[in-house]
Amino acid sequence: MNKNPAPDIPEAGSKPSRWIFLLYALIAITLVMFFWYRNEGAPEETTWQDFVEKMLIPQDVEKLEVVNGQKVNVFIKTSKYNDPKYSSLASKMAKNLKVPLYYYTIGSVDVFYNQLHEAEQGMPLNQQVPVTYINKNDWGWTILMWILPFLLLVFLWSRMLRGTSSGMQGMNTSIFNFGQSQARVTESGNKSTITFAQVAGMDEAKEEISEIVKFLKNPTFYTRLGAKIPKGILLVGPPGTGKTLLAKAVAGEAGVPFFSLSGSEFIEMFVGVGAARMRDLFAKAKAKAPSIVFIDEIDTIGRVRGKAYSLQSNDERDSTLNQLLAELDGFDTSTGVIVLAATNRGDILDSALLRPGRFDRHIHLELPNINERKAIFLVHLKPVKTGQDVNVDQLASQTPGFSGADIANICNEAALIAARSEKNSVDQADFNQAVDRVIGGLEKKSKVISPSEKRRIAFHEAGHVITGWFLPHATPALKVSIIPRGKSLGAAWYLPEEHQIVTREEFLDTISMALGGRAAEELVFGEISSNALDDLEKATKQAYSMVVYYGLSNALGHLSYYDASGRTEQSLVRPYSEKTAEIIDDAVRQLIEGAYAKATEILTNHRNQLDDLAELLIRKEVVYQEEIRQITGHLPTNQKQNYVSQRRSI
Ligand code: ADP
Ligand code: ZN
Repeated sequence: MNKNPAPDIPEAGSKPSRWIFLLYALIAITLVMFFWYRNEGAPEETTWQDFVEKMLIPQDVEKLEVVNGQKVNVFIKTSKYNDPKYSSLASKMAKNLKVPLYYYTIGSVDVFYNQLHEAEQGMPLNQQVPVTYINKNDWGWTILMWILPFLLLVFLWSRMLRGTSSGMQGMNTSIFNFGQSQARVTESGNKSTITFAQVAGMDEAKEEISEIVKFLKNPTFYTRLGAKIPKGILLVGPPGTGKTLLAKAVAGEAGVPFFSLSGSEFIEMFVGVGAARMRDLFAKAKAKAPSIVFIDEIDTIGRVRGKAYSLQSNDERDSTLNQLLAELDGFDTSTGVIVLAATNRGDILDSALLRPGRFDRHIHLELPNINERKAIFLVHLKPVKTGQDVNVDQLASQTPGFSGADIANICNEAALIAARSEKNSVDQADFNQAVDRVIGGLEKKSKVISPSEKRRIAFHEAGHVITGWFLPHATPALKVSIIPRGKSLGAAWYLPEEHQIVTREEFLDTISMALGGRAAEELVFGEISSNALDDLEKATKQAYSMVVYYGLSNALGHLSYYDASGRTEQSLVRPYSEKTAEIIDDAVRQLIEGAYAKATEILTNHRNQLDDLAELLIRKEVVYQEEIRQITGHLPTNQKQNYVSQRRSI
């Protein structure tokens, strides 16, 4: 590991940012001047009477100064500054500087002269106060009055620009840093001390990414054989699953600097700043290579460019994205810069970003299952002083649907609760209270599952799996989980389709299997739920395409209304008659109903296995194919795929 502390990298500003910096410096200076003029050395206003009685008659006045024929500045003799009536005001004045202590305004110079003359009647001549007349332009004020509105306009205008380019994001970024990437540099030896040991669970992701660590440590080992290391790795997963953590761990393990910036930070108020920042970020990273660049929330800049967004102004986003693409293409991996990016929406990214040579490697992070949650608890419990009765297994089983960040939060919350009641250690009761509190806070925004929901999801997923297992043409599940994933609650993994030609039977069985979840819910609970939205959507689409596109229904026969040119999509006219539309509707409905009946039949026949699998799911949350086989006591009916080799392929 390289231990020498790195000097701060000089900020390389780009052209527009210099001007903006100047502008703001000007604002700052004028403001300072403004306050200085206001508060320091400002004479106090007085009246003619006071002036005469308190200053003129006692002969305290050194001289008078008539400014622009409107104002009279009164200079008090410095020898009188100690007089209690002046001392407080005089002490505020700049020392050694002769400034007026008071002033008063006058209507006209003639009147003033006469009045003064009258007041000085009877005074000996040598005691009369000298009067000077001056014309003074108060430049400070004049400039201020001119510049302030202008600055205000510029400021409002820039705010407006920012508003259109990125909503209200990035409002909190410092106004002095436009155009310069705010990449926080984390160097080995001081900040990125995170190692893989602090990242619990996600073994596959760690395994995959550890190759990057090896490369960063010893690039020549790979390049000497001509191997290419991926430049860009996309980490996809729900918030809080440790994407940032993993990226930092890579930097920590390899002992290389870590540059990170969040997607929303690129998009700022001035057009062109995002691209400049991107350039800057990569320039810094290359100067410190080997290094890691981490771009969080890449979807804010890398979203699909399409008509759906054309109403917003996306110039800024587009130019930032183009710059990113240019940067990615502009270096080869032998430079030693590796770009990691994180998003929770892999599906909305522009395909240009995902092309070979860019972010072509994807690592999916999921919400942790029960064993992973236990491991995460163990990581975060290490610094906590726990009591004897803390049961990590129980904590892990209590928290389905929690992300790593939620778990870290629970551990912290529990420690706070214990500290508040002045305990010496954190007990199980504190943890239970923390779990409740975190659930309370999360319920609205996240997918935390209650025990009754967990039961329903378990039967739903088991329904899919059992149906699929006993259908001769469906794809048997590789693994099934009740941890929320994407839109749906729970998920089952299947081998991707290898063959392009799908027979009618395969279609029907796939639809049956998609409906198996809902069929199980109806069978077990006597009521159905909203938990099947995805399934229904998929089943309906498939049934529809069977009828309308592939000509696979008896009712309609060998007809296809598929239009390869895609023109019918846009026209509002259907290429068939009303009557045909009715036939299609009927045919689709019949297909779905038939498939549902088949799923129900299978599940009724294998009710015991369904119950067993669901119970196992409730207990373990993830069940693999081998365990499904043990429960069913049966190999999957569809054995087209080589069953043994499937165990670990996802
Ligand atoms: P993301 O970037 O995916 O939103 P983060 O990496 O910011 O999530 O995770 C937030 C915090 O959650 C981390 O700092 C860490 O404390 C905790 N965390 C998340 N996943 C894990 C994990 N697998 N192991 C240990 N801690 C984790
Ligand atoms: Zn389902």
